[in-house]
Amino acid sequence: MREFNLLQLVRENIKNMTPYSSARHEYSGQAAVFLDANENAFGSPLPVNYNRYPDPLQLPLKEKISQIKGVPAANIFLGNGSDEAIDLLFRIFCEPGKDNVLIFPPTYGMYEVCAEINNVAVKRVPLTPVYQLDLAATEAAVDANTKLIFVCSPNNPTGNSIERTDIEVLLNNFDGLVVVDEAYINYARQKTFIQELTEYPNLVILQTLSKAWGLAGLRLGMAFAGQPVIDYMNRVKYPYNINTATQQLALEALGNISSVNNWTRTTVIQKEILTEALQSLSITEKVFPSDANFILVKMTNARNVYAYLAGLGIIVRDRSKIILCDDSLRITIGTPEENKQLLEALKKYTA
Ligand SMILES: *Cc1c(COP(=O)(O)O)cnc(C)c1O
Repeated sequence: MREFNLLQLVRENIKNMTPYSSARHEYSGQAAVFLDANENAFGSPLPVNYNRYPDPLQLPLKEKISQIKGVPAANIFLGNGSDEAIDLLFRIFCEPGKDNVLIFPPTYGMYEVCAEINNVAVKRVPLTPVYQLDLAATEAAVDANTKLIFVCSPNNPTGNSIERTDIEVLLNNFDGLVVVDEAYINYARQKTFIQELTEYPNLVILQTLSKAWGLAGLRLGMAFAGQPVIDYMNRVKYPYNINTATQQLALEALGNISSVNNWTRTTVIQKEILTEALQSLSITEKVFPSDANFILVKMTNARNVYAYLAGLGIIVRDRSKIILCDDSLRITIGTPEENKQLLEALKKYTA
């Protein structure tokens, strides 16, 4: 395992803080009468009771995720979406007004939004024209205050996976944390980096139940990392960040992996069908190869196509103002029926 000094990365105030100690933290044995947390002892005005505070560390849910992902529960953090994990990493590691993070645009917007909110500078090293990492430019951009590098793979909005060997170069050479955002990993031909956690103490992997698992409305994001990083995330998070309903429903959903696998397979097949059909249209300049559940499509006039589709009640994402995405729309793969509607509409489009 490579040498790595986590304490050197953590903000002074975070190293020195005393975490909130909840009632359920202070007493964890068997008891019948809980008069320690100022809850309403009678119940909730609902068919199901939510009058008790949730498990602050979500242990049964983490055990289930541990089985599915093949990683110990101690290496798992659960958040209110992966967005909570992203924000926590800023708050733990990046000193406002001093530290910086590195991103590879075009990529997921939340890295930059979180950086701005936390008053942390962003260094942008654009992807190459084939949407891969520019390692030489990355090395030149990193400085002593660069704490985090965000790699989104498969990348949003381009859809492609980032070369595994390039991510390994970052992991082997960068003294800060490399955050690999695998929100779309279920759709990818590439394998997850989770198995590399034992090798790289500076690796953080983000996954989510919001995409392939079909649970965007529940808000459950996962971070996988070495235990010291996870421990800091648990100290800094809100004590009860995952509500009881989400914990119970997510646990139930994780038992239904076969329907998720079926949808994932269907989505990948639909993506191939849609890609081929779009390529035969004269307004399509290029459909970029995708390892995700969406495709980036370069069109002759993306803005007009977007407005035309919106007029028919079909909403795609206009990415044409984004670096390296000129005239491109990001289209999520829908049901076969929805994809057919999209195609029929595009066939009737006249510039
Ligand atoms: C959708 C998405 C997420 C998911 O965020 P949640 O907060 O878990 O819903 C994370 N990263 C990327 C790149 C995404 O596209």
